[in-house]
Amino acid sequence: MMSECAASVAAVPIAVHPGHWSQSSMAVHEIPLSRPDISPLEEELVVQTLRSGRLALGPMAEQFENRVAAASDCLYAVSVSSGTSGLHLALLSLGIGPGDEVITTPFSFIASSNCILYVGATPVFVDICPKTLNMDPDRVERAITPRTKAILAVETFGNPAHMDAYEQIAKRHEIPLIEDCCEALGSRLNGRPAGSFGRIGVFAFYPNKQITTGEGGCIVTNDRRLANLCRSMRNQGRAVVDQPDPATGQLSGAAVGSWLSHERLGFNYRLDELSAALGVGQMRRLDEIVHKRQLVAESYMRRLMGSPHVVLPTLLPGTEMSWFVFVVRLDSAYARHERDRIIQGLRRHDIGAGDYFPCIHTQPVYRERFGFEPGMFPIAESVSQRTIALPFYNGLDVGDLEIVAQTLELMIQRENLGRN
Ligand SMILES: *Cc1c(COP(=O)(O)O)cnc(C)c1O
Repeated sequence: MMSECAASVAAVPIAVHPGHWSQSSMAVHEIPLSRPDISPLEEELVVQTLRSGRLALGPMAEQFENRVAAASDCLYAVSVSSGTSGLHLALLSLGIGPGDEVITTPFSFIASSNCILYVGATPVFVDICPKTLNMDPDRVERAITPRTKAILAVETFGNPAHMDAYEQIAKRHEIPLIEDCCEALGSRLNGRPAGSFGRIGVFAFYPNKQITTGEGGCIVTNDRRLANLCRSMRNQGRAVVDQPDPATGQLSGAAVGSWLSHERLGFNYRLDELSAALGVGQMRRLDEIVHKRQLVAESYMRRLMGSPHVVLPTLLPGTEMSWFVFVVRLDSAYARHERDRIIQGLRRHDIGAGDYFPCIHTQPVYRERFGFEPGMFPIAESVSQRTIALPFYNGLDVGDLEIVAQTLELMIQRENLGRN
């Protein structure tokens, strides 16, 4: 297991930028923010698929779906072209539309809210819990109105905290929970996997996620009607087989009737076979990939535990994190411009760093449409101004991790000096 990873990592060329570095203890090569973990298994599956001549609507997407369904304890999985297209279909399949309110988090990647706008519904943001960075369950409950049609919860940075609480709130109010688990494949809360909490859930497989298909996503649910609707809508609204295939037990998703007969308004949101083949290989290695991510996260935790002014991620009891990213934050004495300078400082030293995430309600498109203002969700805003995503990927070696930690500490120290 270990040697397979070491081999695949060693094969990645490292960009060397000597010259502008003055601290001799530090590195001269680039340490990227993220990097996919691809092994010869995936290469083989992709080449096999390429040679098979079947590049769309084939067996790989089905195999991929079976694996994603199993990993999320769901009966049905519907592969799609991206996490965003999966979220779009999830909302459509639940009949959410104009006039409906959907409760969601302002502290997320923008796609988790954009899907609400795609269907003409209204996002109702609630502030987050400052520890877990997911929606505060009490605020979720208080935000429910007669117009609330769903709760759309995000496992921010892969943390499944409060998913069971949202599930209970949704049950009590007889509205669906949509689980945006795009960042959480492999995470668990009290033994239950991400993807198993919502009436419908969506994973994403962009290259910075735990596993990748290049571009791609997957919808999961135990509701056959919703799965069928999503299968039809991802394939131009064509009718689908409603009975499970007796051989595999899975819905085939194959069109019945004429290829040019369309039952409803659909899209082309299909996942192609090459992407699915990459996904099958990645899913076969899921446990290994997640385990390695956990080891890197643990190394960061140990190294940065005593670092002044650095707040580490908080995991509630019962949480198993598969680690989408490793995001620390500065303590509350720091302002946005100081955080931004620290990020710039890291980047100047060829260390990838990101400001995950600017709040969604402060993005121009949301401010213009809905009149959101800074100050409306103070916890999310305060956290968002102070977060720093650090380089995080399988194969990040201890020497590089030490360089990241030292450079971070140095940049923070410089900000402190600038204050006096
Ligand atoms: C990555 C991500 C998405 C969308 O995924 P794409 O595949 O890039 O469309 C949606 N929601 C969250 C929270 C994500 O992190």
